[in-house]
Amino acid sequence: MRKLETRTIVVASHNAGKIREIADLIGPFGFSAKSAAELNFVEPDETGTTFEENAAIKALASAKASGLPALSDDSGLVVDALDGAPGVYTANWAETEDGTRDFAMAMQKVETALAEKGAVTPAERTARFVSVLCLAWPDGHTEMFRGEVEGTIAWPPRGTAGFGYDPLFQPEGFDTTFGEMSADEKHGWKPGDDHALSHRARAFKIFVETCLEG
Ligand code: IMP
Repeated sequence: MRKLETRTIVVASHNAGKIREIADLIGPFGFSAKSAAELNFVEPDETGTTFEENAAIKALASAKASGLPALSDDSGLVVDALDGAPGVYTANWAETEDGTRDFAMAMQKVETALAEKGAVTPAERTARFVSVLCLAWPDGHTEMFRGEVEGTIAWPPRGTAGFGYDPLFQPEGFDTTFGEMSADEKHGWKPGDDHALSHRARAFKIFVETCLEG
């Protein structure tokens, strides 16, 4: 495992919601971080079929373009009754014809697909959010960290916090969706904690233990 020696990195993302969450998570570690969006880097095509492949594509593109280590996140919602869909295609389900993203539409698509399967009880609506963080160096070395959080698909969507599919996802053991949680509640983690809640915070915790500590 390679340690991260510098405290200047690129956050290899163009997604405002992810950039905000990663900024929250790395904040306490004293990083100076710019996002690929701020640096006007071209968004690479996500041609992989796994979260790991797509995370590597994004992190390597930013590391090579900047000459700095780059941290990417590839994530998605995996619904058991839909055989794992939308999975790596979670962002694509939100794409509209004019190229923008509409998450109300995307959440409705998930609900329609579940209704077609007759999935109405919480036990039939189990799902998980997955986040794979990839740290890539300009020489092509990569390290991956995977976090997952189990839950159920709520309907109708609840809450206006967070981003993407947050109002649809109720993590196991909670009565609220991610859309009804503050950012701190959704992360459920700060440096030194044993547990994290969100998929991204769980992956980030492994990144800290692997590449920053020790
Ligand atoms: P990608 O990683 O850029 O391929 O896109 C991930 C997709 O999953 C985006 O559409 C996000 O909105 C969605 N997603 C990932 N993480 C979260 C989350 O924490 N909350 C809500 N939606 C998420």
